[in-house]
Amino acid sequence: MRCLPTKQFQPQSLPPSLSTTNTPHFTTATNLLPSSSMPLFSSILSKTATTRSLLMSSSRSPKTRLRGVVFDMDGTLTVPAIDFAAMYRAVLGEHEYNRIKSQNPSGIDILHEIENWTPQKQRKAFETIADYERQGLDRLQIMPGAAELCGLLDSKNIRRGLITRNVKSAVDLFHERFGITFSPALSREFRPYKPDPAPLLHICSVWDVLPNEVIMVGDSLKDDVACGKRAGAFTCLLDETGRYDSPKYADVEHKPDFKVTSLAEVYSILEVNFDLSP
Ligand SMILES: [Mg+2]
Repeated sequence: MRCLPTKQFQPQSLPPSLSTTNTPHFTTATNLLPSSSMPLFSSILSKTATTRSLLMSSSRSPKTRLRGVVFDMDGTLTVPAIDFAAMYRAVLGEHEYNRIKSQNPSGIDILHEIENWTPQKQRKAFETIADYERQGLDRLQIMPGAAELCGLLDSKNIRRGLITRNVKSAVDLFHERFGITFSPALSREFRPYKPDPAPLLHICSVWDVLPNEVIMVGDSLKDDVACGKRAGAFTCLLDETGRYDSPKYADVEHKPDFKVTSLAEVYSILEVNFDLSP
């Protein structure tokens, strides 16, 4: 088991109870929120400020109480079944794919790339994306360790949520096929989607918990870890193949607090680092 923090993946913005510095990471999260999201999240953020000052004045609680775990779906709760590189090539064309890839070392944000295309071109792109996603659904399998992890979280009454950039019908199929439900489960119909912090802040609001009482678990540095860190939550990167060990990811803006190679490792990380008492 590889349990971080390590030299490469130092916690970047731990809540005050765990941080040696008083980095105002919730101020950062506020700055990153779209102005339209502010009324919705203002209660969470003001509550956060209060709790933060309470935590700062107390050294009795070395571990943060964990209230919820938010999962990514594709490649995290399910075995990777979508050939994203092939999808991006089909949407962008070989030349454009190579150009954009060279400018985005941590990965291509395909939804962002097509955002300003003409409606006709965009419609065709979404059809291509939907084709690849449909093929992925046919091969959909639950990730080893996912059901066991969910069972352990349930035994501690820790909430489980889901955020995906895939469509709602894919989430419905996941719930139906594997009999494990996540609530809230936000798909790309919820705007703005990951890596924006809005979906994670929305889940915290529904649960009535603070972002720093939640951990985001996902296999994407640019979407899941970025979303989690921007919201002020803890993050755990699932890196089955060690691809994020590559030097090209050394200088990314958002780094995970923890890194695992399988979901089977997640629960022990939670037990060691958080207070899981109900
Ligand atoms: Mg994923």
